[in-house]
Amino acid sequence: MVTEQRKTVCPYCGVGCGLLATTDGKRILKLVGDPEHPANLGRLCLKGALAAQALAAPSRLGRALLRGADGALVPISREEAVREISTRLGRILAEHGPSAVALYLSGQLTTEAQYLANKLGKGFLRTNHVDSNSRLCMASAAAG
Ligand code: SF4
Repeated sequence: MVTEQRKTVCPYCGVGCGLLATTDGKRILKLVGDPEHPANLGRLCLKGALAAQALAAPSRLGRALLRGADGALVPISREEAVREISTRLGRILAEHGPSAVALYLSGQLTTEAQYLANKLGKGFLRTNHVDSNSRLCMASAAAG
């Protein structure tokens, strides 16, 4: 089996620890801390250290699914999923107003992605319910 190692970033919190991912091109086989990354110098907390297991979990959603009227989940394309979300969001906004919508963002978004997500939430959807997991995640870390 041919494998290669890629540099990446832990997806879980705003610390942004560097990871070295060993992959066969389809799956992540192993994740370790990147000793050259300035945020963690190779060290990881348990969440980062176990990220490869979470990525390989059989229950992990690998593609968009839509629940039908009978309750069964049917695979749909990404375009269909975006259309469905757009239609449903539009319906919620029309029926209940902007306060019925909230965006919960990742602490790992880039500054530019954070800006776009906030623009979408506050500027376009007109909700002021925009927050990120950085607050909750780091609140427990700081208390710890
Ligand atoms: S502190 Fe833990 S969860 Fe946060 S980025 Fe580093 S390894 Fe990931």
